[in-house]
Amino acid sequence: MSGASGRINVMQPWFGPEEIAAVSEVIASGWVAQGPKVAQFETEFAHAQQVAHAVATSSCTTVLHLALVVAGVQAGDDVVLPSFSFVATANAPVYVGARPVFADVDPVTGNVTAASVEAVLTDRTRAVIVVDQGGVPVDLDAIRAVTDPRGIVVVEDAACGAGSTYRGRPVGAGAEVTAWSFHPRKIVTTGEGGMLTTSNPEWAARARRLREHAMSVSAADRHASVLAPAEQYLEVGYNYRMTDLQAAVGIVQLGRLPEVVDRRRQIAATYAKQIAELPGLRAVADPAWGTCNFQSFWVEVGEGYPVDRDGLLAHLAAADVSARRGIMAAHRQPAHAAVPHGPLPVTEHLTDSTLILPVFHQMSESEQARVVDALRSAGRGA
Ligand SMILES: *Cc1c(COP(=O)(O)O)cnc(C)c1O
Repeated sequence: MSGASGRINVMQPWFGPEEIAAVSEVIASGWVAQGPKVAQFETEFAHAQQVAHAVATSSCTTVLHLALVVAGVQAGDDVVLPSFSFVATANAPVYVGARPVFADVDPVTGNVTAASVEAVLTDRTRAVIVVDQGGVPVDLDAIRAVTDPRGIVVVEDAACGAGSTYRGRPVGAGAEVTAWSFHPRKIVTTGEGGMLTTSNPEWAARARRLREHAMSVSAADRHASVLAPAEQYLEVGYNYRMTDLQAAVGIVQLGRLPEVVDRRRQIAATYAKQIAELPGLRAVADPAWGTCNFQSFWVEVGEGYPVDRDGLLAHLAAADVSARRGIMAAHRQPAHAAVPHGPLPVTEHLTDSTLILPVFHQMSESEQARVVDALRSAGRGA
């Protein structure tokens, strides 16, 4: 939809005939489960993200689980992470019997910092999950300067981060293990899907087995031989596999990533320029150490603006613009209400005062102008 009227969605995946052709080819091949397309997607993804190993799974949530398992996180351990994230980040430690320990975030980037992580470390901290929230690169080196000397593993949740950079490299390349999402709300999509990337060959091999019932021989390898070798189940594993149908889409989508990021950055630059003229609003921006893919273009609604965040959301909705509340805070959800935590003032402030504006590849200039007009008229109190 484009032009002067019609609903403007907050996000829309971008597909072409290439994805349809890729799926058709997999169906015609007769092999739709995890197979050669998954292997190809893993190779191409590892290359694009400048990492040694990539293991595809069913979602980023399952990657986060596997990442903590291969990193050796166990029952009774503490895992530090931001409450200011999609709930899957806080759920991961619970899957392995560990305790989530919430760190507050930086008011400008919305990410955990070396100081906010250090403030909540305990004797039992085994891992820290850092998030590139909304695609804003986290300052990983500063955090690792605190965690590495203590032998604490850093897991990077780059669910939103494909196409963002940190100190000149793709985000995630500097972490021991990184989790990616291919949900349609993210920048590269396979419908559902995830990728674990790591520099550690043993962790990669174990994650590869664990996603497939910890079988000693993969189903694809067994299928390839006429007399299938007898497999063994080496430990209790999971079915966290991606299908070749999904991977075929992922390969095409990965090829689109540079173009998608360029377009999102153009749209973000236009928003940033317009929003700078509206007192009381502050837009997310590149930090000093990297560049954003603007997976989520968020705006903080401050004291100087005539309406509060919920008022602005209502105003945008009346203009048929579908904006969204900003990032959630896990510690406020019933699922994590019993988790003890210290004060999280920045998390609570940002979750209450931010909203996410529409950005998608096909967004037209007139659609973006309509969003900006709505921000202006709300800013005039109109
Ligand atoms: C979307 C998201 C997830 C979960 O990804 P799925 O692929 O849907 O499981 C995890 N962490 C963050 C920060 C996310 O934004």
